[in-house]
Amino acid sequence: MDERALRELELGNVVRLYGLSAAEAAPVAVAVPVPAVQPASANVSQMDWGELKDAVRTCTACGLCKQRKQAVFGVGNESGPWLFVGEGPGADEDEQGEPFVGQAGRLLDSMLHAIGLKRGREVYIANVVKCRPPGNRVPTSEESVACAAYLDRQIELIAPKLIVALGKTAATRLLGTEASLSSLRGRVHDYRGTPVIVTYHPAYLLRTLPDKAKAWEDLVFARGKIANAA
Ligand code: URA
Ligand code: SF4
Repeated sequence: MDERALRELELGNVVRLYGLSAAEAAPVAVAVPVPAVQPASANVSQMDWGELKDAVRTCTACGLCKQRKQAVFGVGNESGPWLFVGEGPGADEDEQGEPFVGQAGRLLDSMLHAIGLKRGREVYIANVVKCRPPGNRVPTSEESVACAAYLDRQIELIAPKLIVALGKTAATRLLGTEASLSSLRGRVHDYRGTPVIVTYHPAYLLRTLPDKAKAWEDLVFARGKIANAA
């Protein structure tokens, strides 16, 4: 097979994973032969929690599977009102198998505490990509797309009242916009009918202390939004 056809095949897999229709995917999908073996994640949108966890644990849908110690599925109340979405596991998360357990995670926990929330109580925490990008680089858009079906299904199963997107990667993934983080703050967005509020990523706040006050404003705004919805 020539290089172009191989490239198309890879894209074809991504397109199928993401559940785009053949029409939307037309230029790529039409040219691509259907592989004999579908990726395990092809029917993610039908999975229950157990199946979804198994699928993520064994997933090889993108290159991030190669260097992970383990996939990091997500943690917390599986029917909680609050969902926080980060970017992807770092070294500590890759080691321990739980999101936000390193330094940024400690800051996230204290931010949650500040608005009366606790990891695992009324909060679920997940990431855009479930496997650690080497050197903590930002996941590529291909990696975000390859992993999208898992987060989509988590959101469907949790059915949170509100999603807080932590940082640009989560905001871009959930809202499909490349707009700057600062331009997205301070209003309520929508992800498939669920309200989304955007704030800074805790790892960014560790480097940029003055913006902590803005993150605090965002969380107070989010808490008000949930209170109104209740
Ligand atoms: N940063 C993230 O975005 N997610 C984690 O789980 C840890 C750090
Ligand atoms: Fe699969 Fe997501 Fe891990 Fe890529 S990052 S291998 S899509 S679980």
